[in-house]
Amino acid sequence: MAKAGIQAVRGMNDGLPDVLPAWHRLESELLALANAYGYSEIRFPVIENTLLFKRTIGEVTDIVEKEMYTFEDKNGDSLTMRPEGTAGCVRAAMQHGLLYNQQQKLWYMGPMFRHERPQKGRYRQFHQFGVEAFGIEGPDVDAEQIAMTARLWRALGISEHVTLHLNTLGSPEDRVAYKQALTEYCKAHIGSLDADSVRRLDSNPLRILDSKNPDMASLIDNAPKMSEYIGESSLQHFAELRQMLDTLGVDYVWDERLVRGLDYYGKTVYEWTTNLLGAQNAICGGGRYDGLVEHLGGQATPGIGFAIGLERLVAVMEEAGFQPTPENSLYMVSVGEEARRYALALSERLRTELPKVQILLHTGQGSFKSQMKKADKSSADIALLIGEDELSAQEVTLKMLREQSPQIRYAEADLMKVLAERFSAE
Ligand code: AMP
Repeated sequence: MAKAGIQAVRGMNDGLPDVLPAWHRLESELLALANAYGYSEIRFPVIENTLLFKRTIGEVTDIVEKEMYTFEDKNGDSLTMRPEGTAGCVRAAMQHGLLYNQQQKLWYMGPMFRHERPQKGRYRQFHQFGVEAFGIEGPDVDAEQIAMTARLWRALGISEHVTLHLNTLGSPEDRVAYKQALTEYCKAHIGSLDADSVRRLDSNPLRILDSKNPDMASLIDNAPKMSEYIGESSLQHFAELRQMLDTLGVDYVWDERLVRGLDYYGKTVYEWTTNLLGAQNAICGGGRYDGLVEHLGGQATPGIGFAIGLERLVAVMEEAGFQPTPENSLYMVSVGEEARRYALALSERLRTELPKVQILLHTGQGSFKSQMKKADKSSADIALLIGEDELSAQEVTLKMLREQSPQIRYAEADLMKVLAERFSAE
């Protein structure tokens, strides 16, 4: 189709009616999931002070270095459109005193913004559902959050297409020794590092492990292993978590390359990937950030959370054959001015009496034939017809649209009962 007028910003999608039933299904599963695990919703702004993201996500990350939508407002303040939800969630919870000597289980859902190179599964505006639990050291809550995601995949019928990658990052102290070993190893192989990795060598060497550059793969495979540097308490946390996952029957792959290279992240990190999407195959990332609240100036409070990418999850649902549940739906056809007015009033009565049935009143002009054509094309399985005959007899005619059966006339007094029975049988 020819492109007319002003287009959407590159990498920012419209939600058109044909894909939204999958989104609605997903959103209702997410609400039910959050409720089943006792998580409360929290809402926070799309725009925050830039400093919050720099502090929370870390200066030496792709997000902060390259991907943020940052601008100065009219007062000259540097503001940023949120690239993820943890920062705003923690900021809001701290600001309103939700974390002080308390445990909290919170969830959020909404748009996030990253100036990445758009491709399938990677957008500049995308949506996340995330949870954060505060004040609980785990590993029980770590296991519970993973169980939550596993339950979601089951509810959506996609369990067989997803894999859990799990790792532990140890404590920040454990990582000091590891970072040193990794840095020494990388310096010894400096000729094989790409430009990004050379830059990270001094500022954030763990992110080198995260490199997606295939030329770096063998260097990373042969790098010192984090597990050899992890202290007793983190190892025990990880061992207990794995036992709990075994008890729950959640399979995982221990992936030592999986990192979240931020100083306040520690212990549990995980990612769910899928075999149904192309290169952008991560559908959920999670991890423990016991140092973050303190890092932002609060009382030391352990925290753990995950975020699910909704565009990718909808794409997985569609690849796995998602079909929207058909509506119970009725199309109302009327001929003549008086019948039209009567149909309008009756449509309101029907919506009151049958709140679960979709009432499609024919609006606008149209002959009986053209109205019936519309009824046939609609999602309705019953047409309700009102012409002059019906009007004078105070009756209506019901015609089944998807099966061969004679049309039947009913008195309006009997109509609600007939329709209620008909639709509850479906
Ligand atoms: P992250 O905060 O980067 O771990 O992201 C969590 C999840 O959000 C990922 O697993 C993806 O499913 C999704 N996600 C991240 N970035 C994008 C993007 N640019 N476009 C679409 N989904 C994304």
